[in-house]
Amino acid sequence: MSTHTEHDAGPTGTNGWQERYTGALMNTFGPPKTTLVSGSGARVVDADGKEYVDFLGGIAVNTLGHAHPALVKAVGDQVATLVHVSNFFATPGQVALAEKLLALLGTEGRVFFANSGAEANEAAFKLTRRTGRTKVVVAEGGFHGRTMGALALTSKEAYRAPFEPLPGDVVFVPYGDAAALEAAVDTDTAAVLLEPVQGEAGVVVPPKDYLVRAQEIARSAGALLWLDEVQTGVGRTGAWFAHQNPALVDGTVVPDIVTLAKGLAGGVPVGVCIATGGSGKLFDPGNHGTTFGGNPLAAAAALAVIATIESDDLLARTREIGARLREVVGSDARVTEVRGEGLLIGIDLSEPLAAETVAAAQDAGFILNAPTPHRLRFAPPLVLTDADVDALASAWAQVLDTAYTSRADA
Ligand SMILES: *Cc1c(COP(=O)(O)O)cnc(C)c1O
Repeated sequence: MSTHTEHDAGPTGTNGWQERYTGALMNTFGPPKTTLVSGSGARVVDADGKEYVDFLGGIAVNTLGHAHPALVKAVGDQVATLVHVSNFFATPGQVALAEKLLALLGTEGRVFFANSGAEANEAAFKLTRRTGRTKVVVAEGGFHGRTMGALALTSKEAYRAPFEPLPGDVVFVPYGDAAALEAAVDTDTAAVLLEPVQGEAGVVVPPKDYLVRAQEIARSAGALLWLDEVQTGVGRTGAWFAHQNPALVDGTVVPDIVTLAKGLAGGVPVGVCIATGGSGKLFDPGNHGTTFGGNPLAAAAALAVIATIESDDLLARTREIGARLREVVGSDARVTEVRGEGLLIGIDLSEPLAAETVAAAQDAGFILNAPTPHRLRFAPPLVLTDADVDALASAWAQVLDTAYTSRADA
């Protein structure tokens, strides 16, 4: 485990760090659940030395888990070679990554690199304005990020209300309802924006014909189909992109815009806006930009993640271990629904005890996530082992017992 004497200007241990956190950081996330200092594979260790199996994976970010040798080497080598140069210059990694992403998508197009999911969506939002139309039709329950632009596309009232007015001409329709989408999309519509699976909503999966219908509806109005794969992309569901996953989509979908971020560089910040066909040429010089976007470090990390998914056959492995994890967590009668594919899994509890379950799981050595009071989300590293799943399997009933008892005690 690493030492951190260089930071030790006060109390340490999880309690000490948490107290200092509260005194020095803005309270945007609420109190931290613990203080993590190191990790390996799908395991992380806190400042008191306690180990956890990480079923959240940095919110679908740590594709290769923690301290994966391929990522360590790629990032280390790149820092020792060229870490950043500005977008006045091309670098080989950025070109290779753009070409690779287009090849995985299987279409012609152009790529813009940013540094986060919100920034990827911000770029895409601006790109849609270059169609000459302004209206964007978006799904209720969707999440697209926290910048003013990305927030304008996000339906959740609690996130939006403190910051209105937001950039306008956004229309919300119920998710998964093709008829509602058809009624909202017209010839003023620049784009239809959808997640193939709604991650932040708790892994909500639409009907298998929804994206194909959305594509038809968008095309017939001359609008762009924009898929936000920030959470679902890069192997998460057991396919490179969720919209290409036959377990989720019946038929062929060729989006005009795809946005990526979370899992792409395994924890190094990156965001991508990919536009296919003619949409890739909507920006002219000066229309958009970024200082860090696509820098050699992020590109090297992303290329290492993609190469490792390929060399270790992690797409097939994700499908296999994901099926097993769904079986394990769905085996308890208090779990009333299991959704998702690969290692993006959402479950519903019979009672609104998701927060209590997260707390009980943490005590037992597991990191889980509660996107809503009834729902838990699992988005662990794709390198999750059978032993990691076994550990949860043997603790699961007890974790739920503790959560359900804590409610009865209250
Ligand atoms: C997380 C997420 C975002 C925002 O990404 P940030 O990197 O937090 O800005 C956007 N869209 C989806 C679908 C997400 O899951």
